[in-house]
Amino acid sequence: MKAFVASIATETNTFSPVYTDMSSFRASLYAPPGQHPETPTLCSAPFIAARRRFAELGWELVEGTAAWAEPGGLVNRRTYEHLRDEVLEQLRAAMPVDGVLLGLHGAMVANGYDDCEGDILERVREIVGPDVTVAAELDPHSHLTQKRLDNADLLIAFKEFPHTDFLDRAEELVELAVRHMRGEIKPAMSAFDCRMIEVLPTSIDPMRSFLERVRRIEADNLNVLSISVIHGFMAGDVPDMGTRVLVITDDAGTLGDAIARKLGMELFSFRGRARPPYRGPADAVARAKASPERPVVLADVWDNPGGGVAGDATLILRELVAQGVTDAAVGTIWDPVAVQLCVAAGEGAHIRLRFGGKTDEKAGYPYDAWVTVKRVVRDAHQSFGESRVPLGDAVWIAMDQGIDVILNSVRSQSFSPDLFSNLGIDPMDRHILLIKSTNHFHEAFARISNEIIYVDAGAPYPSDPRTTKYRKLRRDIWPIVENPHGN
Ligand SMILES: [Zn+2]
Repeated sequence: MKAFVASIATETNTFSPVYTDMSSFRASLYAPPGQHPETPTLCSAPFIAARRRFAELGWELVEGTAAWAEPGGLVNRRTYEHLRDEVLEQLRAAMPVDGVLLGLHGAMVANGYDDCEGDILERVREIVGPDVTVAAELDPHSHLTQKRLDNADLLIAFKEFPHTDFLDRAEELVELAVRHMRGEIKPAMSAFDCRMIEVLPTSIDPMRSFLERVRRIEADNLNVLSISVIHGFMAGDVPDMGTRVLVITDDAGTLGDAIARKLGMELFSFRGRARPPYRGPADAVARAKASPERPVVLADVWDNPGGGVAGDATLILRELVAQGVTDAAVGTIWDPVAVQLCVAAGEGAHIRLRFGGKTDEKAGYPYDAWVTVKRVVRDAHQSFGESRVPLGDAVWIAMDQGIDVILNSVRSQSFSPDLFSNLGIDPMDRHILLIKSTNHFHEAFARISNEIIYVDAGAPYPSDPRTTKYRKLRRDIWPIVENPHGN
């Protein structure tokens, strides 16, 4: 047997001014055939899972390109078509194959393409024909369209948010694809539209227990091959935005439909109560100041580059300064120009610097301060599980007000405390750590902190669907409509 594997992935916030082109992919991951590293990235885990399994089986694996861009604004049309056609050409050259394995994200939107993944799957299907296995791994923060269901045999999303299980799900995908290639199963996909959009962290209830029930259904029912929850991605203005349940059965569509509907309505009942408490900046900073814990983590949930925004907001930093906080470190603020200025000034220089607040009027003004350039690190990085996440050239600056800030030049959300230590700041040695992430930070930061406070500064991410100006989303979904199921 022989299969082809490739990955094209990013998450598109259609409201973000940080547009995505080839340089965005090159800055995060662009690995032509044979150059994918030994460690998986979030969306390229099928490479690693397939290498391991196919080596055991003695099957042939042809590797195509893997490309990932940090979530951002609309993808440049030529960039998308270039990457897509590059992979399709590699697939044509590899033919005949028995299977195609893809690492997609599922929320990629390019200029002229609302459903990039549906487009890719449809073209792959055209090339390989109806009998070849087409399987793709997805991020749950994605959109599930009919075109994807029509053209894939197997779609599996990460279950966990934070996405700690991306490699486990890739292994599951590869295993089911192997069984399908051998003719052992006949996958039938059943999808249910929950008609809602919500933030659904799985580290806490109700999602924690919900996932346990999902796993029990998978384990107890031989006809159920896999269950995924598509959380949806509220910053993507596309017709199919929203939460869905996807059940894959072994040729038991009626059973799959029933399970998808039951789980979907249960998810709908979680609306408005699935997230941890979010606090406004003034309240959050006051609580952190008063806390005896060390460090206290303030998570800026709506300036999370992982949701496609710039990551250069200064709103909460201003609140720290306003409340006289001194024993704090901020990781990170994206500002490649300020990084360049600091690099030129050199370590030890005391300079007047304007940083942050450059890309979005809702994210606060640039900050002007006297700072000392404490450390310059070329090609800095941080960890996320097994993967290494680039931060680009980065600097540690110490503001005269007493707050340390890391400025980075490749956008990334805050995944792990080593983003501080890699720049020379001991995260255990600060009272307050301000980071930018919605939930992916949680596992790694909970290991060093007993107090994590989620901060809702309201911007720049389009965080309230009731006020977000969607143009392509026309379906009735909660919270835009109170009773979208009409009961
Ligand atoms: Zn995600």
